[in-house]
Amino acid sequence: RAPLSVSLRARGLRVGYGGFTALDGVDLDVRPGRVTAVVGPNGAGKSTLFHCLAGTLRPSGGRVLLGGRDITRLPAHARTRLGIARTFQQLAVFPSLTVAENVRVGAEQGRTADPEAAERALRLLGLDGPVRAFPAAGLPTGTLRRVELARALAGSPRVLLLDEPAAGLDAPEVTALARVLRALAADGTALLVVEHDLDLVADLAHTVHVMVAGRVVTSGPADRVLERRYGG
Ligand code: ADP
Ligand code: MG
Repeated sequence: RAPLSVSLRARGLRVGYGGFTALDGVDLDVRPGRVTAVVGPNGAGKSTLFHCLAGTLRPSGGRVLLGGRDITRLPAHARTRLGIARTFQQLAVFPSLTVAENVRVGAEQGRTADPEAAERALRLLGLDGPVRAFPAAGLPTGTLRRVELARALAGSPRVLLLDEPAAGLDAPEVTALARVLRALAADGTALLVVEHDLDLVADLAHTVHVMVAGRVVTSGPADRVLERRYGG
């Protein structure tokens, strides 16, 4: 088994949709204990990059590496088993299952298949009260985002990929999310966040990559990259 702390790396990733180049040679490292953020305008290729890392899209060129291992050709479910967990921009919970059942599915699909990890994830996300027995259908967006995150964490991932985790959350929910993500990074998880909320990115990320038209055009510490972006 690979060590608990491991980096996910993209090298020279290229993706074309028909004649259109969506990723034009992207390099990026997602390191243990760090929050790495990808920002950029709509259409920049952020979700395409995310799909290549998660295994839901096969790049036409370049490689994805987990530690020393080339996982470019591994499908998503096999990457989940290796400890790469993700959440979905469009929420993807099972509506007829309860909150706790949804989270246990994540434990079964994950790296360790440890039911205790599901309980820990429920507690970490504040879902261990009466809400654990509620069907997911009809729960508010903020709660469903926490169910998604708990489901991802229930597999004890080493790498956590989050596409727009703050979408649809109110300010106190964003603050609570930031606290959880910071704690995960402090525990050694490698986090990648694709996010529109630049205040959250500035608050959370160690390294920020700015994508434009399929390329990373600027990378660096959050304070420097975002300051430049705002023209400060
Ligand atoms: P972002 O997440 O940064 O908004 P995307 O990765 O979703 O960007 O999209 C990058 C570009 O690729 C956009 O121009 C988008 O229209 C195009 N695109 C995304 N998915 C597809 C697809 N399945 N088929 C054709 N073009 C696509
Ligand atoms: Mg997107």
